[in-house]
Amino acid sequence: MQRLLAGYKKFRREVFPNHKDHFHLLADSQHPDILFITCADSRVVPNLIFQTEPGDMFLCRVIGNIVPPYGAMLGGISATIEYAVEVLHVRHIIVCGHSDCGAIKAVLPPDPNESAPRDPRTPRDLSRLPLTAKWLGYVEPAWKYLPAGISDADIPTLHTALIRANVVAQLENLKTHPEVARALAHNTLEVHGWYYDILTGAVEAWDQQRRQFLPLEDWASDVSER
Ligand SMILES: [Zn+2]
Repeated sequence: MQRLLAGYKKFRREVFPNHKDHFHLLADSQHPDILFITCADSRVVPNLIFQTEPGDMFLCRVIGNIVPPYGAMLGGISATIEYAVEVLHVRHIIVCGHSDCGAIKAVLPPDPNESAPRDPRTPRDLSRLPLTAKWLGYVEPAWKYLPAGISDADIPTLHTALIRANVVAQLENLKTHPEVARALAHNTLEVHGWYYDILTGAVEAWDQQRRQFLPLEDWASDVSER
C-alpha cells in the first residue's frame, strides 16, 4: 500500500502536470478506438506493453480473459462489450491471453513432473472456490481449438497451448454477442485474438486464415497487405 501511495504522490507532483492538457481534453469525454479484454493478472499491463495513453483503450479485465457466450451469463463483461460497441463505437476488440495464466492452469490435470511445491496462488482445488469453478467452466470450449496431437504433450506445453486455444474460444464467444455480430456484419468492427508472453514481452496474434498464432509484427504487416 505504501508503494501505491508513493506512486500517487509522484503522479500528482510530476506526471499529471506534464500531461495536464491531455487530461483536460479527456475530462468530459472519451473516444477509445479499442476495447481490450484481458486477464486480471498483475503482470499484464496493456498500457505499458502497447505504450498507450489515457483515452486510447477501453479496458476489461477478468480472470482467464473469458467472455461468456451471449445469454450464458449476462453480467459485467456483456455490459462492457455492449457499451463499447453501441456507445463508444470501438473499431477493434482484442481478447488477449498471457503465458503462465493461473486460470487456465487450474483446469489442467496436476503436473506429475512438478518437483517444486505448487504455487499456492494457483487455485487447483476448485471445490473451495465455487464461483471460480463456475467461471472457469467457460474455458471448456478451448479444448477443441488445441492443435492436433498436443493432448499427449507434457503439462507445461499443454498449458501454453490451452491458453492460446482459450483466446480463440473466447473470440468465438465474443461473436455470439448480438451487437458484436451486427457490427462485424457491417464491417464497422474487427475482433482479434492475441497472446502475450510475460518472459519475452512478445505478443502473438491469431491468424484466422492460417489458423495459427503469428508474431504481432508479421501479422500486422500481413494484415496491411490484405
Ligand atoms: Zn491469467
